[in-house]
Amino acid sequence: MHLPDLEVAKKREKKANNYIKLEEHYDKVFLGKKYFLRTYGCQMNVHDSEAIRSYLEALGLEESKDASFADVIVLNTCAIRENAKDKVTGFLGKCNYLKKKNPNLKLVLAGCMAEQPDVIDEIMKNHKYIDIVIGTHNLHELPKLLMKEFNKQVIEVYSESDEVIEGMHYTRDSQYTAWVNIMYGCDKFCTYCIVPYTRGRERSRKLEDIIAEVNNLKEEGYKEVTLLGQNVNAYGKDIGETFSHLLECVAKTNIARVRFVTSHPWNFTDEMIDVIAKYKNIMPYIHLPIQSGSNEILKRMNRRYTREEYWALFTKMKERIPNVAITTDIIVGFPNETEEDFEDTLDMVNKCAFDGAYTFIYSKREGTPAARMEDNTPMSVKEERLQRLNNLVNHYANVNNQKLLNKTVEVLILGVSEKDNTKVYGYTDTMKLVNVVGPKDIIGKIVKVQITDAKSFSLDGEYVK
Ligand code: SF4
Repeated sequence: MHLPDLEVAKKREKKANNYIKLEEHYDKVFLGKKYFLRTYGCQMNVHDSEAIRSYLEALGLEESKDASFADVIVLNTCAIRENAKDKVTGFLGKCNYLKKKNPNLKLVLAGCMAEQPDVIDEIMKNHKYIDIVIGTHNLHELPKLLMKEFNKQVIEVYSESDEVIEGMHYTRDSQYTAWVNIMYGCDKFCTYCIVPYTRGRERSRKLEDIIAEVNNLKEEGYKEVTLLGQNVNAYGKDIGETFSHLLECVAKTNIARVRFVTSHPWNFTDEMIDVIAKYKNIMPYIHLPIQSGSNEILKRMNRRYTREEYWALFTKMKERIPNVAITTDIIVGFPNETEEDFEDTLDMVNKCAFDGAYTFIYSKREGTPAARMEDNTPMSVKEERLQRLNNLVNHYANVNNQKLLNKTVEVLILGVSEKDNTKVYGYTDTMKLVNVVGPKDIIGKIVKVQITDAKSFSLDGEYVK
């Protein structure tokens, strides 16, 4: 079994109009049993884990925070970076020990790694005790597989099917803010990225199904939805819709807050900017990955924009959306990145003064075009560049946060602060984390908070009655 070749994958037939409605009911056949779920990777995986949790609980399993007490262990894996794979294989060692102690324990490997047959072949060779391998396209099969599973056979379900599954249930992490998948997959084929191979081609959900989900969430008391897609603003191309129209329809549900991730600069239209500027309940926050400031590197990454085009878009957003905060992703040390290329990246960070950035050293993913590129940049140079970049990114995050000092802002309070349980925490409209001195009964509400201190990664504030 091999990963699909780039050209083969690009030609894969689109089945975007295949919608499967789930109408399954499960018996609580596992009552009294426990499951342990560990999630690696991006928001998409976090949201998939909410579906996994819902399926397991529909079967009667209860969550255990300790793998040692579990009857079923699910690892929802990530394939983006090598260290995510290393973490999974590290944890599998512990699972092997637990399975020896409890031969009835069932071990499920789910997520993006399960969509890479070469990787799975290697893992299964070394970890023969895994019971079920299930890919991202097939999570709805998990209950059936678990029911069948107690016969010891390894069941592998990963597929290239491009159906859009409707009727998924989620045991959500929060009662106040919810992820809403609006599309699956990605057609961009950035040369470093494994996602188009693991998550398949772009498939959009129907607008009416998304709006129905948002309305239900609003009725259940949710204050905020985040529309989710690997390439969220490419929504609708396959079904004759547009992201700007969907965004407007979601805003018109009057749910208090609307967010969306992750946007691709190439797909960002003027209409989207106009809709964001028009509706008060669409939060003025955009995560807009730049990845590199060097035109040469952007070309080799197949990002489809130049630094000049990114800057023009960035400027337009800043001009048209009042108080918009923009964060980004940056990869350091792409194959053969020169010092000049890297300085172009620093230059863009200086120009854009981002509110924040997720920064990474390039991680080679087998099966992608970038994995075959020559790379003569030593790791020590990449690490030193990452340090310089982080210093600059943190500087601008701090500068932007300082502007909020002594201001009163609206914060959606999500819970008790993990670091200090006398405080609560939440997020501003611009997605800044605030630790708040205030009563616990403001949890779940959007309240006014006066900012009393500002650091690079968070703010402190006091609840204003
Ligand atoms: S747009 Fe994002 S998900 Fe799609 S290939 Fe590029 S990096 Fe990967």
